[in-house]
Amino acid sequence: MKILISADMEGATGVTWPADVLPGTPQWERCRAMFTSDVNAAVLGFFDGGADEVLVNEAHWTMRNLLLERLDERAQMLTGRHKALSMVEGVQHGDVDGVAFVGYHAGAGMEGVLAHTYLANSITGVWLDDVRASEGLLNAHVAAEFGVPVVLVTGDDVACEDALGYAPVAPKVAVKDHVSRYAAVCRTPDRTAAAIRAAARKAAALAVRHEPVHGGPHTVAVEFDAEHLAQAVTVVPGVTRTGERRVAYTSPAMYEGIRTFKAVTTIASAAIEEQYG
Ligand SMILES: [Zn+2]
Repeated sequence: MKILISADMEGATGVTWPADVLPGTPQWERCRAMFTSDVNAAVLGFFDGGADEVLVNEAHWTMRNLLLERLDERAQMLTGRHKALSMVEGVQHGDVDGVAFVGYHAGAGMEGVLAHTYLANSITGVWLDDVRASEGLLNAHVAAEFGVPVVLVTGDDVACEDALGYAPVAPKVAVKDHVSRYAAVCRTPDRTAAAIRAAARKAAALAVRHEPVHGGPHTVAVEFDAEHLAQAVTVVPGVTRTGERRVAYTSPAMYEGIRTFKAVTTIASAAIEEQYG
């Protein structure tokens, strides 16, 4: 049994503020240890549950946040950019039986600690086939195309609630309870690690590859906070303007859909203005 862990940081234990997840800040240095603790707890739980192999895919920002030297020696870690499937890179090779979303968060325009979908603030909403989409929802659709179920989700309580929509039977661990975008009631790393390990142990039983789901074509709509970002991303082939601050595109499958989304967010992030006013 091989498990892929897609590890994002906004939904990690103790994280509630942008500086907590921005590489180079003192707060990030502190929080990356708690992020690593969450991920390692999932690694341990999956091995407890019978996994033979666990690959951790770093899915946050520069994709170099986790402390490799603190992971259980049986795990391997995919770190750094650039990866065709980004947050769920590794799911496409036919050898993964289940994927875990650790440290996930709610989507753009939703309540939740540091809620966003790829770009904080600049993207105000994403819809997949008219359903409001978090990164979890998008990545779950990618994984399903390769027959891989989402077996575990951790994050704040809002991210766990969001996961009911795309991974209803997967165990979920809320490491903190949302109070506002920048505030949460947090549980200690020892306590969340114990909960994540126990949940991952159970989740291992759900790691059974299924027939690939071919649900395409899929239409992805993206709303920005500024008109010029919508204009800028229409350079991506197939992306059309559907409103002053909105674009949409249709892809034959999520494999293409998520890669086009990555192209859209990369162009948009290069077009964001400095603050003034
Ligand atoms: Zn992130």
